[in-house]
Amino acid sequence: MSKEAIKNALATVKYPGFSRDIVSFGLVRSIEFDGGKATVGISVTTSDHSVAAQIRDGVEQALKSVPEIESFDVNVSIAPAKKQAAPGATSGGAPAGIPGVKHVIAVASGKGGVGKSTFSSNLACSLAKQLSAEGKRVGLLDCDIYGPSIPLMMGVSGRPEIEDESIIPIENHGIKIMSMGFLIDEDTPVVWRGPMIQKTISQFINNVKWGELEVIVVDLPPGTGDAQLSLVQTIPLKGAVIVTTPQIAATQVAKRGARMLEKTNVPLLGVAENMSFLEGPDGTPQYIFGEGGGEKTASELEIDLLGKIPLDPRIREAGDQGTPLSISQPDSASAQAFDAIARSLIERINT
Ligand code: ADP
Repeated sequence: MSKEAIKNALATVKYPGFSRDIVSFGLVRSIEFDGGKATVGISVTTSDHSVAAQIRDGVEQALKSVPEIESFDVNVSIAPAKKQAAPGATSGGAPAGIPGVKHVIAVASGKGGVGKSTFSSNLACSLAKQLSAEGKRVGLLDCDIYGPSIPLMMGVSGRPEIEDESIIPIENHGIKIMSMGFLIDEDTPVVWRGPMIQKTISQFINNVKWGELEVIVVDLPPGTGDAQLSLVQTIPLKGAVIVTTPQIAATQVAKRGARMLEKTNVPLLGVAENMSFLEGPDGTPQYIFGEGGGEKTASELEIDLLGKIPLDPRIREAGDQGTPLSISQPDSASAQAFDAIARSLIERINT
């Protein structure tokens, strides 16, 4: 009886609440088989002991189903959940950091089209404007497998160079940029992209020469499925910002995104409301997408509303032209709304 066969049996055990199994999450630490007895070591990073108990039950059931196994011993060790700990984290709990990178923050949304990529690119630029004064630098990592739009919004294209077997991020507007769009062929069917993500993201973390960076902004794919989950447990996140629109109906969706992050112990840094209002010709705000979604999402999640970004045609135009508004029109009220959120985030990640 090979260890591989036991591993295959363990791969039928799902992590509670997720569709992924404990083997692919990297929870199985050891497998021994001797004289009909299987000994299995599992390490779980969680603050919820019922998760460990459910995994133990699942593992015992799986081992019972293998005829060659006459007896077994299952050792489940629980590592206390740290701030960024995740189900499949390494033995220390949280995923390992990116060398040279101080903080990684994610931008998440429960669904597409709320302006998450627009927000990420402007946020990276606003962070860079403020941090460059201190000689600090910023990176932007586009993990939106379904529609990687950061290259367009940041005005970069082509494929990154490889140096000493490492990928060199493409730089523009003073920001180091990596995107799934640089690596995924536009013709790759979306259904293949999910499975590719884990490997590609590991490469973004381990094989990219980011250099010394104060912060990397990660544009997560929209939604709350397995692809998002793999990402948040692979990337060592300091925290996440939830982007939503002012529509009250969007609150539920935004909260779902936030809950997934909470489940993997990623701290929520706050909510950003995008497309909040359109400034009319006489300066009065028009609430095209309704009002109050940002406040409601923030209060229900018990986190702060970091700010409101206007619905501003210049934001879209600037993105389409490859220079985010934060840089192209830094004195505009919209750019200043991004700047204010960046300032607030700098404070939050340093405390
Ligand atoms: P997501 O990443 O959530 O799918 P995008 O950032 O791609 O969304 O934005 C969707 C569309 O809305 C884009 O065309 C973008 O230019 C536009 N957009 C996003 N935010 C704003 C805004 N505040 N004002 C005007 N247009 C915006």
